[in-house]
Amino acid sequence: MDTSVATPGTGSMFMQDHLDALTRRDPNQPEFLQAVQEVIVSLEPVLERHPHYGQQRVLERLLEPERVIQFRVPWQADDGTVHVNRGFRVGFNSAIGPYKGGLRFHPSVNLSILKFLAFEQIFKNSLTGQPIGGGKGGSDFDPRGRSNSEVMRFCQSFMTELFRHVGHNTDVPAGDIGVGGREIGFLFGQYKRITNTFTGVLTGRAPGWGGSLLRPEATGYGAVYFAAEMAETQGESLEGKRCLVSGSGNVAQYACRKLIELGATPITLSDSSGWIHDPEGITEEKLQFVMELKNERRGRIAEYVERFTSATWAPVDSAADHHPLWCVPADAAFPSATQNEINDSDAANLIEGGVGLVSEGANMPTTPEAQDRLVDAGVLLGPGKAANAGGVAVSALEMAQASQRLRWTTEEVDRHLKRIMHDIHAVCLDAAGSYGFGSDYRHGANIAGFRKVADAMIDQGLV
Ligand code: NDP
Repeated sequence: MDTSVATPGTGSMFMQDHLDALTRRDPNQPEFLQAVQEVIVSLEPVLERHPHYGQQRVLERLLEPERVIQFRVPWQADDGTVHVNRGFRVGFNSAIGPYKGGLRFHPSVNLSILKFLAFEQIFKNSLTGQPIGGGKGGSDFDPRGRSNSEVMRFCQSFMTELFRHVGHNTDVPAGDIGVGGREIGFLFGQYKRITNTFTGVLTGRAPGWGGSLLRPEATGYGAVYFAAEMAETQGESLEGKRCLVSGSGNVAQYACRKLIELGATPITLSDSSGWIHDPEGITEEKLQFVMELKNERRGRIAEYVERFTSATWAPVDSAADHHPLWCVPADAAFPSATQNEINDSDAANLIEGGVGLVSEGANMPTTPEAQDRLVDAGVLLGPGKAANAGGVAVSALEMAQASQRLRWTTEEVDRHLKRIMHDIHAVCLDAAGSYGFGSDYRHGANIAGFRKVADAMIDQGLV
């Protein structure tokens, strides 16, 4: 189908034409359309200033994934029943390096969600300054409540098809929601067995067999480092700040740990069943309990209040128009669960509760209306593609260590991570300022991420 717009040019109409064309082609992909819209609003002055991007139809090319792979994943449960899930891998853009992005195992996974995540990943990876393209994949398989053997059989079946499409110089997946160290281990084992190679095809490996130290910590730590950079622009620090954290998985856990280390006080956590509020603060000891609960016993966050009576738990009402977690008065917020978890009402509640800074640990956790409301109210908003880029940045460091067959210390990786988050923050501010967007990090992240990829695409011709 020819999706080209009438004439290459710029202006709001031109951008709207792009969105309309995309909406006609992919009407059932709301998350993908949302992610594109969030980027495209930043690009008008860029295309005006650099007309060759328009002439080369860079945007049209960028909006189309280089490849999308979908496959069947049959597997057998412990009780002998046979199940069939869908597997996907989206290779969105490889202009600056091999596809890189996580695998998500969650019942909500579909092509729209994976295209949104892979699209975001292009800009995020570009911002890290590392040579990695954008990709994402996963399955609608739900690991919750499944035994280790079931998860292993699923991972083996998934990799038995995926192995054809990935490789350490082609496409390097990592973890995401529902894919942690256990799943990466099973996936890697099957890849190694089928291909008869031991390579850096997946990141997030355990440190004993090629993983980088500090990879599990990197996304949460990075989101807090980014928040500290934002606070510093106002002559402030995170010390003493009361912080709302959502989720209780990988990103949320390590965001909490770094907040505690920097003298801030995380006071909330959540999962898909409910949320806890601990007004006395989540300490390192309480966090250890959460890590054991979530990572070893794979339990629910409700158990927190059985152990720590200072806290309260409440279930999530998915029909409600707001999440009560965002009503708790605080100074800063770290949404670290999933996409669109802060809507317009939640944003109003955050402002009402005194939150002055939001650092997105999750991908696209804030709806566009909520983002506008926060920014208009003067809240510092670190968009996910910048604020949570620490995870993929350390994944790229893992790739570098694997290629060189050496291993850096925790301190070395942390030094790199801090520098990378500092640089991303600076690049975002610089790009936003240069194109007339003041200090709006959203536009800065989109523009800086876009320009590097666009230039590489032009250099490489029509491929
Ligand atoms: P985990 O699977 O470790 O944890 C996810 C957490 O979010 C769990 O507490 C989960 O609750 C909750 N959650 C997931 N889906 C929903 C939902 N639909 N509604 C409510 N709660 C939900 O994932 P991560 O911590 O790795 O990822 C969290 C976010 O961070 C995602 O947006 C991911 O894309 C993003 N991210 C992750 C990176 C990483 O390195 N891991 C890197 C960059 C971004 P429950 O246990 O009930 O499912």
